[in-house]
Amino acid sequence: MDEQAGQMGQSAPDVVRIGFLDYTVQRVAGLYAADADGRYARYHGRVHFGEQIIEIERDASPERQWATLWHEITHVLLEQAGIEEQAGQEQIVTVLGYGIPAVLQANPWLGAPTR
Ligand SMILES: [Zn+2]
Repeated sequence: MDEQAGQMGQSAPDVVRIGFLDYTVQRVAGLYAADADGRYARYHGRVHFGEQIIEIERDASPERQWATLWHEITHVLLEQAGIEEQAGQEQIVTVLGYGIPAVLQANPWLGAPTR
């Protein structure tokens, strides 16, 4: 089993299809970016919409990497829907980005249609 896959139980993929676009998942070290006050804060992940790249902090735990990937996927879903960045959006991303994978993890049958 891939070390980075950890609790996911399978190899972490390098590409995730979101809508009709393939995003490359890159696991990188030291994700830092300046905040609005010019201070440097640490991020677990980051998405580059134009380049279709999702960066994930590779030194984070496998569980954190998984949660971060879902967080960034949620950002992409909102971007694809044409929803501009706005106040409170990060909170929506956090709710959906944690909530949907948690429900899917607890109820794997929800990952596909059932009769
Ligand atoms: Zn975010």
